Amino acid sequence: MSDTLTAPRSRADAPRSAAALIDAEARYGARNYKPLDVVLTRGEGVYVWDVEGRRYLDCLSAYSAVNQGHCHPKIREAMIEQASRLTLTSRAFRNDQLAPFYEELCALTGSHRALPMNSGAEAVESALKVARKWGYEVKGVPDGQAEIIVCADNFHGRTLAIVGFSTDPQSYGHFGPFGPGFKVVPFGDAAALAAAITPNTVAFMVEPIQGEAGVIIPPAGYLQAVRALCTRERVLMILDEIQTGLGRTGKLLAEEHEGVEADLTLIGKALSGGFYPVSAVLSNDEALGVLKPGEHGSTFGGNPMACAVARAALRVLVEEGMIDNAARVGERLHRRLAAINSGAVREVRGRGLMLAVELVPEAGGARRVCEQLQARGYLCKETHEHTIRIAPPLILTDDQADGVAEAFEAVLGGM
Ligand SMILES: *Cc1c(COP(=O)(O)O)cnc(C)c1O
Repeated sequence: MSDTLTAPRSRADAPRSAAALIDAEARYGARNYKPLDVVLTRGEGVYVWDVEGRRYLDCLSAYSAVNQGHCHPKIREAMIEQASRLTLTSRAFRNDQLAPFYEELCALTGSHRALPMNSGAEAVESALKVARKWGYEVKGVPDGQAEIIVCADNFHGRTLAIVGFSTDPQSYGHFGPFGPGFKVVPFGDAAALAAAITPNTVAFMVEPIQGEAGVIIPPAGYLQAVRALCTRERVLMILDEIQTGLGRTGKLLAEEHEGVEADLTLIGKALSGGFYPVSAVLSNDEALGVLKPGEHGSTFGGNPMACAVARAALRVLVEEGMIDNAARVGERLHRRLAAINSGAVREVRGRGLMLAVELVPEAGGARRVCEQLQARGYLCKETHEHTIRIAPPLILTDDQADGVAEAFEAVLGGM
């Protein structure tokens, strides 16, 4: 084994070919991803460049973590400045970035309180813990009996608790046994939710638009019906806006499309503009209020660098008009994609710049289309076999949107 090990390479090393890097990944890495064979080395705005110098328009934005565009200069500046000053104190001590982060985040989202975490999955786990605790201490559910309802085809992350209530065999298969306490109902079906609620139900968790499932939009009025049911039955409504939030759908939070407010709202991904893992649980006073000192935490959660980066990421999102741009350019791109005349397309759907093109099964699969788009300078990722998600940075211009539509037309038009 020792003869295959080499010393870590420094930045001064000669650039390696894409093929060599792909080879080394396959050899040494866990094989839990199957990426497109493009090795990126630089990003700026909506564009990324591969190691051979080819430029691509990024139509995925790291699953909506890079809503503000790659390497946004103001977020970068905040990160470098904070990195030179103070990076981590742990919550054993206070830091001067946390309070302004709370203030700005709560003011922007209309929340009473927030809990800072790192990855999206941690925000989800935190909300589930809070919901159970609320159920026992406020609602009066007998200890150990709390039920949480989730939706079929959900995606909330990769921890054991979360994959335990996934309905995707790839996510949960051979990772059990899983803890009890979760029930699954169909997405978009308020009557099914109503039927599943019992006196022990403490929360219902749902994505406003299911992202990983393929950009699935629920029927109009669904979130309002859920809100009414949750209020009537004293069940916490948890909205997982880790992908839909922070401008992606053309509103700061997707819940605004139906004018509702969840009890707990989860954000992550674009909360740092792609620089650093930052997530948060947003809450009213009652739900997060159940946590007392020592009952939950995270070494890195709320650290000064995360707070400084997130403050800058939120500021540019608002100040640079990215949310309105997502609504306007998203509508234009949606219209142009829907106008493509192709027997390969079953449906174009989405909201804001969270779009998807679903192909008919006879089209030969979305992966192949993504490879053809890559050859034209557009990076897209298939979601399941027949769906291509389109989620470029929210700074996309009209011309760039037209370019995306034209690339799709060129690939799909002849099919
Ligand atoms: C990405 C995502 C998560 C998980 O976030 P991680 O940072 O990967 O843990 C949770 N929920 C939704 C809706 C997501 O899109």
